[in-house]
Amino acid sequence: MNTSEFREFGKSAVDYIADYLDNIRDKKVISSKKPGFLQNKLTKSTPINGDPWQDVMRDVDQLIVPGLSHWQSPNFHAFFPTSNSYPGIVGELMCAGLGAVAKDWISNPACVELEVKMMDWLAKLLDLPKEFLNSSEGPGGGVIQNAASESTLVAVLSGMARSVKNEQILNPHRSEAEIKSKLVTYTSLHSNCSVEKAGLLASAPMRLLATDKHNRLRGHTLEEAIRKDREQGFIPCCVVATLGTTGTCSFDNLEEIGLICRRENIFLHVDAAYAGAAFVCPEYRHYMKGVDYVDTFSFNPHKWMLVNSDCSAMWFRDTSEFSEAYRVQKSMPETEIQPHKEVYGIDIENWQIPNIRRFRALKLWFVLRTYGVQGLRKHIRDQCSLAEYFTELLKVDDRFEVLNSVMGLVCFRVMGDDSVTRKLLEKISERRNLFLTPYTHEDRMLIRFVICSPFTQKEDIKYAWNEIVSTLNLILDVERIKG
Ligand SMILES: *Cc1c(COP(=O)(O)O)cnc(C)c1O
Repeated sequence: MNTSEFREFGKSAVDYIADYLDNIRDKKVISSKKPGFLQNKLTKSTPINGDPWQDVMRDVDQLIVPGLSHWQSPNFHAFFPTSNSYPGIVGELMCAGLGAVAKDWISNPACVELEVKMMDWLAKLLDLPKEFLNSSEGPGGGVIQNAASESTLVAVLSGMARSVKNEQILNPHRSEAEIKSKLVTYTSLHSNCSVEKAGLLASAPMRLLATDKHNRLRGHTLEEAIRKDREQGFIPCCVVATLGTTGTCSFDNLEEIGLICRRENIFLHVDAAYAGAAFVCPEYRHYMKGVDYVDTFSFNPHKWMLVNSDCSAMWFRDTSEFSEAYRVQKSMPETEIQPHKEVYGIDIENWQIPNIRRFRALKLWFVLRTYGVQGLRKHIRDQCSLAEYFTELLKVDDRFEVLNSVMGLVCFRVMGDDSVTRKLLEKISERRNLFLTPYTHEDRMLIRFVICSPFTQKEDIKYAWNEIVSTLNLILDVERIKG
């Protein structure tokens, strides 16, 4: 493909995206396709001679888009947002277009330095502890990871490294392997499944602790679990606290947990994947009380901050706990042929698992710069007020029960046993006009309704409400006839 074809192809793709997003409201939010639908529509193998780009774009339109569930649709209220925005999309395009990746500073100075700067902008935007800043005097700093799951794994590995080091100082004869076999980690029953997985990946069993009735992990529960484990010879090494759980957007009591971790010298990570974005607004920062005890903190700009996936922000109080423990000293032949061997004081390439990093800072910069602090606050506040509006609608119909309504998430169910709630969700999913997801709370089913798309307006909430009520009426009518 030559440059002039690229110009045409690229422009046609941008136009396609703009039309897609302009008309997204008209599409059924859940795809109607059956499993395997695409397999017979595509050629069995790679075409021998390349196809014209026009044919590829035609197939995007005819084969791919009809098989999408539309995450940017105003009728998408499932999971948590993975929102994008026009500046974010262009940032991603520029990232691919410049083809820039980075390892250390010399491999791509602007890539590394923009990321270092953006992580400071973000930390200040959320009012995180000063020690987390790349520009701070101490060993703290921030880096962009691929996903919250990866940030959690890096945190757990850091906690394990700290415990091994401490234990070897106390008991110099104990082998690393023996210490590692005794390490245990903690989180709540309601933390994201990626947290338990991080424990599995790191071979440090993750204890899933009970919460209070608001799904919050409390200090006394953690304290008791640590005491029992120590009695049995285990070594507690890491706690993952959640600010904004995936199920019900609950907030673990960070202050209680932090005090215990500080006292017991246990590594403390905060997973604020979704709710972290809300801390751009000062009125939500009370949920972060206790953040001064935290060793690592992560949230996803790719969830609720208008940056398309992937972009997970992670900060360390002391980056060396990870970078020293997992540094490999292999001599890299490529460093020998570098034009200059200058080193930059910040080694973000050692704060992550992959070898190279994509230039994700670019899309983050595009979003932060074009929205500004006020634009981002407005985005969060607008979405929260839409959730409040939906809550008001639920509350005037006494057939519904609202379990909680926090930030952009509303959890509700139909009064009575679970059967009608279950039928309601099934029927709504069959109709494909709304995308909602369930959660189990105290053995009862509830329906989660999240404001996800930045395009969602009050009219869309009314539409969702009508869809829910008319579906419920339909179900109740059928039951009445049967009864
Ligand atoms: C979504 C979510 C995750 C997983 O995020 P990824 O970036 O997909 O790994 C982790 N924790 C919480 C609380 C979440 O809501």
